Amino acid sequence: MGRVQRWYRHLATVLLVFGLITLIPPTASAYERPVLRVGYTNTINYLSRDEYGFYHGMTYETLENIATYMGVTLEYVPGTPAENLLRLHSGAIDLVTCEEVSQNLLPPTELTAPPAGTASIPLGYGIGWLLLSDQRPDLKANIQASQQSLNSISPLFGLHLLEKYQDQGGAALELTAEEKAYLKAHPIIRAMASPGQPPYTFFTEDGTHQGVIADIMNIIASDLGITIEISPETDQSSMMAHLTRGEIDLVTDIYSDYNWARQHNADLTIPYLTLNYVAVLRKDQSLPEKPIIACPRSHFYTHDYMEKMYPASQLQYYDTVAECMSAVNNRQADMTFVNAITAQSDIYQGNYYNLYITGNVVFSHEVAIAVSNLANPMLIRILNKEIAHLSQQQISSIINRQIYAVQSKDTLQSLIYRNPIGSLVLISSLLLGIILTLLLVMQLRRKHSEELYREAHYLKEVNMYNTRWFIQNLPKNLAAYDALRRQGKLFLMVMSAQRIAFMHELYSRQAFNKALQELGARIRRNNPWLLMDAISGDFFKLIVLCRLPEGFTMEQAAQKIANEAGTYVINDMLTTVHYHIGLCAIPKAGESTPEHLFDCVMLAHMESVASHKTTTYNEALRHELLKQKKMENLMAKALQNGEFQVYLQPKYDLQTQEALAAEALVRWQSPELGFLTPGDFMDLFEHNGFAIQLDYYMLKSICQYQKTRLENGQPVIPISVNQSGLHFSEENYLQRMQAIADDYQLPPGCLELEITETALIDYQTHDARDDASTIVNQLHQIGFCLSMDDFCTGYSSIAMLQNLPMDVMKIDRQMLLNAEESPRARTILHHIIELGKSLDMKVLTEGIETKQQEELLLSLGCRFGQGFLFAEPMPLEKFAGFLEQHAKKS
Ligand code: C2E
Ligand code: MG
Ligand code: MG
Repeated sequence: MGRVQRWYRHLATVLLVFGLITLIPPTASAYERPVLRVGYTNTINYLSRDEYGFYHGMTYETLENIATYMGVTLEYVPGTPAENLLRLHSGAIDLVTCEEVSQNLLPPTELTAPPAGTASIPLGYGIGWLLLSDQRPDLKANIQASQQSLNSISPLFGLHLLEKYQDQGGAALELTAEEKAYLKAHPIIRAMASPGQPPYTFFTEDGTHQGVIADIMNIIASDLGITIEISPETDQSSMMAHLTRGEIDLVTDIYSDYNWARQHNADLTIPYLTLNYVAVLRKDQSLPEKPIIACPRSHFYTHDYMEKMYPASQLQYYDTVAECMSAVNNRQADMTFVNAITAQSDIYQGNYYNLYITGNVVFSHEVAIAVSNLANPMLIRILNKEIAHLSQQQISSIINRQIYAVQSKDTLQSLIYRNPIGSLVLISSLLLGIILTLLLVMQLRRKHSEELYREAHYLKEVNMYNTRWFIQNLPKNLAAYDALRRQGKLFLMVMSAQRIAFMHELYSRQAFNKALQELGARIRRNNPWLLMDAISGDFFKLIVLCRLPEGFTMEQAAQKIANEAGTYVINDMLTTVHYHIGLCAIPKAGESTPEHLFDCVMLAHMESVASHKTTTYNEALRHELLKQKKMENLMAKALQNGEFQVYLQPKYDLQTQEALAAEALVRWQSPELGFLTPGDFMDLFEHNGFAIQLDYYMLKSICQYQKTRLENGQPVIPISVNQSGLHFSEENYLQRMQAIADDYQLPPGCLELEITETALIDYQTHDARDDASTIVNQLHQIGFCLSMDDFCTGYSSIAMLQNLPMDVMKIDRQMLLNAEESPRARTILHHIIELGKSLDMKVLTEGIETKQQEELLLSLGCRFGQGFLFAEPMPLEKFAGFLEQHAKKS
């Protein structure tokens, strides 16, 4: 039971709620507007429907405005005028639009003859009418009442519409016959335009008028079929003076002010352009409450607008617009007003990049043409018609085009200003490009100088640095091993293989170099105490910076290396090599230049070559070094002072004991050093190149000696002069020898040149050998006999014989000493003598000191000899006496 009751109660509640809902009246109801249906014919500018279903036009806007006042909603029904009328009569629509037929703007009256059964209501000047059934006077009254209300509130509503729609096309140009005749009779009109304000109006350098005004004048001239000749004038007042005097017909652009025009005997056309003025401010500062305004003093707008807008206390006067802008830019003023057309150009041309234009039009004025009132009034009427004919679109596009044209002629600076991002990207890319190029150039230069350095310091044939590099890098390495140095554990070692020239002769240089590289690598690997090494340019001498290995003396360490390098494998052949080794301990303290250390170890090495013993640099050698230095300092002066003297040693025919020839040998009678023989200085002079000069001195002395003897009718025997090996690489050697021969004109056979065999040993390669034999042949041609001196001291004597056609073989004293000692050596000497003779050479042996030696040589077939046994080298003066004595003896 209870359940049924509950059910019932629920039902009652639902019904109650439902009842209440239906009983509550709606709180607000939409105001139902009656609908008026308007028949229209699609007509642009009056009433038209676009593709999106929206309506446009003067008629449309007027109707909607009226509808608002009437409180009705309009529904538009399209149709032809005839269809519209039919619908109106049938009551399907309430109203029909009817456009103005003529462009003549007649006063608003009712249509003179509305279609039958209709009444008309004018909608306004130039807009048209509404037609409605003449049976509906109430509707007509209603509409007219609304129109009246509207007019009383907004009397210019219709005119604004007219302006809005009509202007887009411009009025048609309809000239009367009289006007046309006038234009025909006056095809040229003289005019002037305001001076320099690009792009508003300005003259180019060749006097052409350009800018917005020029373009508008061109359109006017072309529309009217006339020419407007515009001549430039520098200022406004003289331009107006021309107009006042009637010298020109018109001024193209004048502030539309009738009083002003009258003062200058001018009439004004209707305005053709509105000039808007915009504010120019500084970017970096907001406008203060009472800004200082920069005003161009003589401009009319200063008086007409600025002085009216701001109190005198805020105005600051300048001569020109440019000065006003500059004042704002320089913080002398806060704001100025400029013509919107010229504003951008003013900013760019003046480079006022801290200024900006607000874009808000602060005031405007209109521009008209001032026509001289001396001209036919018809001209102004024609111009007015033409101005009405100009469309706003035409003028806007001229302005836009001209503003752009001026901007496009901007400076680079303004271009950057206008295109900041593009400029930034361009400049950064340029900079990046420059930086990359610089880096590349630097990289290339570094690479190049590295290559140059390497070329100058590296011997790629053996993959080793040269001695120049060693000297350059020695200080760095000594610094790196400074601790060891201070303990006296650093030393230099120079080593060269004995018989190296012979080995070069035996093996190809390539094979030799390859073996040298392998050897070097092996020794470096086994002896980490070899700190840095290099090789001399001729690959003969190896120089090493060493750390003293634990438990070794310098000499023991050097011997260890000599032992390890004692066998080479060259061309798969095991070769035994002995070494000349020079050593030099690096002093624990004190300043020693790398060059000095190098000289010291080289000196020790030289000594080891001479003594065939490992030599450590010591005090005696140091003295030697000092002596050499001293000799170097003195040598040039000594030559000038005649300290070098010529000694002569006779050469004998062993069989007849006759002195047949002589050898010139140099001596140095030095006031500082005493009497020196070549053994004391010749090596040094070979080393420093002075031998070349000395040889020429000796040769010329002998030439002179022989010449004098010949001139004096004294007997002359051939005298030989020693020639250093350096001549073979001397430039112009042969030319100089030829010159000497030409100078003295000695008969053939007076002079002989002695060339040591070792001097020619350097000529290892095929080409170099060719060079040497060319030199020998040329010397022959010049007239010198040639002796191969010190024959058999080198290791390639036989090869020399083969290549070089020499006249005399001078067998070295050592061969004679050897022959005295051993029968084997005797056999060799015998065969060498025979070999020389069989090659048509005179064979002479040097250094004969004993009778036994002389006899031995005779028994071995040697015909000629030279030595202390016969005569020692003697001064020139003494030699003359010797010759006489000798002649008497024999
Ligand atoms: P050389 O051309 O082989 O001259 C022979 C050398 O042997 C001379 O030494 C001479 O004094 C020496 N001598 C001569 N007879 C004997 C002897 O019986 N026993 C010994 N033990 N020696 C003897 P000197 O004059 O000291 O010249 C040494 C070298 O210096 C010369 O050797 C020559 O190569 C070089 N020399 C000398 N004068 C000149 C020169 O004007 N120019 C050049 N470039 N080198 C020169
Ligand atoms: Mg000689
Ligand atoms: Mg000799």
